[in-house]
Parts: sequence; C-alpha cells; structure tokens
Amino acid sequence: MKTVVLKFGGTSVGNIDRIKRVAKIIATYKKKKFGVIVVSSAMSGITNQLIKQTKELSKNFDAAEYDVLLSTGEQASCALIAGRLKHLGFKARSWMSWQIPIITEGSYSSSRINKINKNKISNFMKSGGIPIITGFQGINSENRVTTLGRGGTDASAIMLAKFFNADTCDIFTDVDGVYTTDPKNHLKAKKIDKISYDEMLEMASLGAKVMQPASVQDAKLNNISFSVKSSFKKIKGTLITNNKKAFSDQIITGITSTKNDAKITIIGVKDKPGVAASIFKPLSLNQINVDMVVQNISLNSKETDLTFTIKSEDLKKTEKTIKQNKKISFRKFTYDSNVSKVSIIGVGMITTPGITYRMFQALASKKINIMVISTSEIKISVLISNKYVKKAIATLHKEFKLD
Ligand code: ADP
Ligand code: ASP
Ligand code: MG
Repeated sequence: MKTVVLKFGGTSVGNIDRIKRVAKIIATYKKKKFGVIVVSSAMSGITNQLIKQTKELSKNFDAAEYDVLLSTGEQASCALIAGRLKHLGFKARSWMSWQIPIITEGSYSSSRINKINKNKISNFMKSGGIPIITGFQGINSENRVTTLGRGGTDASAIMLAKFFNADTCDIFTDVDGVYTTDPKNHLKAKKIDKISYDEMLEMASLGAKVMQPASVQDAKLNNISFSVKSSFKKIKGTLITNNKKAFSDQIITGITSTKNDAKITIIGVKDKPGVAASIFKPLSLNQINVDMVVQNISLNSKETDLTFTIKSEDLKKTEKTIKQNKKISFRKFTYDSNVSKVSIIGVGMITTPGITYRMFQALASKKINIMVISTSEIKISVLISNKYVKKAIATLHKEFKLD
C-alpha cells in the first residue's frame, strides 16, 4: 500500500465549506487505495487570535502555557475534518500529538520533532482508518505540549512523511505552487515546476511564507521530496526535491522580501578588538536575532559605526540592551523601522558572473538606494526602504527574465 501525507494549511480549512472540500480531497486519495495520513493547521486566524489573548493577559505569558493554548486551534480543525469524513462514511479519527505521541526537543514555541511513535497510527491505518493529526505540536521529555514555530504544520507533515516512509507528501495551501515571487504582491509571478531544497530553503528563510523554513531544513536533511499544491484548484503544483544543479536555465529562481525588519546604527563606537562581540553577545543572550551586519572601516582607528538589522518587534529590547551595556561606549544610537530585505535566489548564480552588478544596476536605474548588502553562494540580499519593495521586486523580476 502506498502511503501519502496530506497537509492542509489554515486557509484550506478556514471555514465549513472549505472543510467539506478538504474531506472530498482526502476521500479521492482513500478511494485510490492509498494509506492516507492527514495533518492539519488551525483554521486561519485562530492562532493569531490566541496569541492576542496572551498579550492582553501578560507581557511575559508563561512559555509552556503559551504552547498549550496555541495548540488548541489544531485540535478543533482536526475534529471537524474527522467528523466530516465519518459523516461521509469513512473510518477516521482525530489524533492529538500527545496521543501518538510526537516527541519534540528544543524550546517552547520553536521545538523540533525528533521522533514519532508509529504503532497506534499504523494499526489504525491497517484497520482502514484515516488518521487526522494535529500539526504544529508535540510533547517534550517532560510530557508537556510544545509547538513548532509559526507555520509549523509544514514541519509536522515532513516529519510524518519521514517516519512513515511516505511515498508522497503534499502540502495543500491557498496558492497552486511555489512562485518566482509572492503571487499576491506581483501579478507577473510565475509558478515554478521544480525547485531544489537549497533554493526553497533560502526562499523560505528570506521571506517566502509558503513554507516554514525549519520544515524545508527537515526535508533537506532527511531527503523528503514534497509538493506544494492548491486545495482550491485541481492542478499540478511545485515539486521540491534534491538537486545540486539548476532545474531550468534561469539564473535566478526566485525573489523574496521580508516584513518587519528594523535597521540599527550605533555611531561612534570605540574601535578596539572584541567590540562587536561585546555588542552582539548580550543581544543573543536576550534571544534577539541579528541578521545583516556592516561595520564601517574607521578613518581614525579610534571610532567606527556599526549597522545591523533585527526584527522590529525586538527594537525596544535591543535599544535597552545596548544602552545598558557597560562594556561599550558610543556617541549615538539610531534606528529605522521602515526597511525591508529584498533577495534574489538561484543556484545559477554560482556559475554566472556579474549577477551582483546586474542587481545593483537595475535597482539604481529606478533610483532605489541600497543600505546594506549580504550574500551567500546562491543568494544576494539588499536592505532598502519599505516604500520601494514592490518596485524593486518588479524591476528584478524583469531584469532576470522571470516575467
Ligand atoms: P498555509 O496557511 O496554507 O500554510 P501560508 O499563508 O503559510 O499558507 O502560505 C501561503 C502563502 O504564501 C500564499 O498565500 C502566498 O501569498 C505566500 N507566498 C509568499 N511567497 C510565495 C511564493 N514565492 N510562492 C507562493 N506563495 C508565496
Ligand atoms: N496554526 C499555526 C500557525 O498559524 C501552525 C500552522 O498554521 O502551520 O502558525
Ligand atoms: Mg503556512
């Protein structure tokens, strides 16, 4: 018997009609005699609503209770799907992660799955049942409920595919595949047929919300190919799989942008060995993620300016941490929270010279100022003002012949 993992995202189960549609999709696989494992997100909006409630109660809501609360959204959607399938005459039931169990490690809110106990689910499937498993959650070694980070049902799907040795893993969402850039922001975005784990991982990490970055990492580490497809339209999606070379002759595969970045500049920092470490160590101890960093070469060897980016929600915490830091002295702390990181991604750039130049030239021709640059083997990112993001994406999409 071939096994398929079917994952449904929040919009796909967002209302009663959509849950009926999801049940129909599941039924088509079951009728084809597949062993079907379903994993679902909460109905769209529910997780945000729960987060809002914790913020209204406490600025420092208990981490363990936060996960218990957030995991409830998935319990509801799974019970609704299972109930509908039973109504249609199928053998189905909901499974909470702790009932399986799905074991996680790591901190609350960002745990990772490290083991899934197969017995109960396998037996249920052997008896003809369709398990409807709550995504986004697990339990830790202390038997407490954990969650896998926003969008974490993607990771649940990949890890279920790994542990059950699934033949197919389909991620059903509200778009019909992975596009060259977010199709909601750029009408000329094109669907990609096949993309490598590495490119997908860069795209996800650099702002393409369609897959959770950690889930793509899990897929890459365990070599789990998967497809992203639409739960609304019956058409072919995008295959994400292992490949070192480009799947097409496009140099650039995708373009992404981030939201909620902030740029910080510390002016006139005393320039001495260890200064960068003494700035960034307290930030990391406070769980503040630093992304792009530039340190200017000091003209007088005494003072330098340091610029870096963080998530804007960490701005207040960062300012406080830096201003309280006795190990550094500086003249001024400035920030700009109206910035965005725009990135071009493609394995093709490894073998094609001149991509950086083409990117900068294209942006310059539209008078878009670049504030910070960072690169890796298969991506180039620039930090620009928020207001130019749409224009930058359109310009680069055209420049790299993705239109
Ligand atoms: P789900 O609730 O199904 O997990 P998400 O909202 O997490 O869905 O992800 C789907 C969304 O990702 C799409 O609606 C789309 O706007 C966005 N997105 C961003 N970048 C891309 C991209 N390159 N290709 C496809 N979708 C993208
Ligand atoms: N419901 C969770 C979230 O909104 C997990 C998911 O949708 O994958 O982040
Ligand atoms: Mg998602």
